[in-house]
Amino acid sequence: MKFTPEKYRIADEPMQPFIDSQEIWDYINNAKPTRERVRAIIAKSLNKERLNLEETAVLVNTTDPELVEEILQGARTLKEKVYGNRIVLFAPLYIGNKCTNNCTYCGFRTSNKDAVRMTLADEDLVKEVEALEDNGQKRLILVYGEHKDYSPEFIADNVRLVYGVKKGNGEIRRVNINAAPLDVEGFRIVKESGIGTYQVFQETYHPDFYTNYHLSGKKKDFNWRLTSLDRAQEAGLDDVGIGALFGLYDWRYEVLGLVRHTNHLEACYNVGPHTISFPRIKDASSVNTPAEYVVNDDDFVKLVAILRLAVPYTGMILTARESVAVRRQVIQFGVSQIDGGTKLELGSYAQTKNEEQNLNREQFMINDNRSLGEIIEDLVDNDYLPSFCTACYRLGRTGEHFMEFSVPGFIKRFCSPNAMLTLTEYLIDYATPEVQEKGWKLIERSLVDLESQANVAEIRNRIERIKQGERDLYF
Ligand code: SAM
Ligand code: SF4
Repeated sequence: MKFTPEKYRIADEPMQPFIDSQEIWDYINNAKPTRERVRAIIAKSLNKERLNLEETAVLVNTTDPELVEEILQGARTLKEKVYGNRIVLFAPLYIGNKCTNNCTYCGFRTSNKDAVRMTLADEDLVKEVEALEDNGQKRLILVYGEHKDYSPEFIADNVRLVYGVKKGNGEIRRVNINAAPLDVEGFRIVKESGIGTYQVFQETYHPDFYTNYHLSGKKKDFNWRLTSLDRAQEAGLDDVGIGALFGLYDWRYEVLGLVRHTNHLEACYNVGPHTISFPRIKDASSVNTPAEYVVNDDDFVKLVAILRLAVPYTGMILTARESVAVRRQVIQFGVSQIDGGTKLELGSYAQTKNEEQNLNREQFMINDNRSLGEIIEDLVDNDYLPSFCTACYRLGRTGEHFMEFSVPGFIKRFCSPNAMLTLTEYLIDYATPEVQEKGWKLIERSLVDLESQANVAEIRNRIERIKQGERDLYF
């Protein structure tokens, strides 16, 4: 993995803001997507080199359909070459929707008086986790509004509680967090509870637009949010996720903003983001969002492909905000994680609340309502290997963000075998007979692909051990 030296490598300082909107626009306004240039940039990425801002700007300016197709094909090739066919699955778990911020696009905003506010009590949380385990989930992301009740200690207690819930063969092996930015001490407290990734989305990287969308509350402070993951790094939390909420501002600018953020983390901490998220705004209770910046499906596909090429080593997350059709299409261009069986209403996995109470407790509408089982079947039918792997962070393989990417054979030695082992557990414990049959065939096909590079005999041996009743085996 080679980093391309740019001036930010020298200029950026930890804990200091780094976004210069004029600089980003200068890159976009000056980028010329000639055929030769676009092809050279795609080739650079396929050579596993990170793209710089200028190169990313060339790609976002590309509109010639033939060249756009080459960008999509490049992202597809990179994904196949680097990540193989596995897709990691997780579920979001909303813990509380109290919020003191006023983000104009969000159903939880403090001025939304229609929202019914609640926070899961410990016993409700346990029921939710049990219901998720009954579906076969192993990886969760806990989601919170911003409120004094959701202190670092509270979040850490939730995390410990979730890890302690075991039902049958079910257990949660990785808890990620999407919550308000904390101070360094707060991040340290949450890290100690054993979380995986801490996500904070910048929403928009344009400071003026940011101010217009965030009317009051702590989130109004653009730079506090921008430097939040620096504070996480200072606290030793080196596994962080960035994101932009697409639809707030020009998507091309946001793509460069995400790359700029990646540059900053690399420059200051030598670790890029573990994941990049690219949610598109969806309808939410009493929310009006601007028509001007709506990202259409074609541009959405393009921007995902460009992000894949620009930051080849980073995991990319596509959520159930998107429809089944869009998810099926976009997944080809470099997505590595999706949620499955998602429910956003608080308390709805265990259905502890009745239908009427469910109204107005969700942040926004989702568009893929399939169960985890249906999503897994769809993945298997399309030759993707569903994975619940949690090995890396449990073995301390974190921070080296490009490890999967740069260590030759890493994916084939660890990721694909672990995907097969966790899929084996799922098939035995939770799948229908039809899905089991398809799943076994997929595992066989995948083992054949690995033949020359991995210790197939040992993988087969562990699959057998799981069939005999052992659980949680990984490389
Ligand atoms: N309250 C915390 C915060 O704002 O960072 C974390 C949780 S917030 C519920 C998670 C993310 O949901 C936000 O960062 C935002 O990007 C996204 N979001 C908010 N409103 C949305 C909407 N209407 N459609 C799609 N995504 C939305
Ligand atoms: Fe609160 Fe987060 Fe929604 Fe903003 S996006 S209103 S901070 S829950």
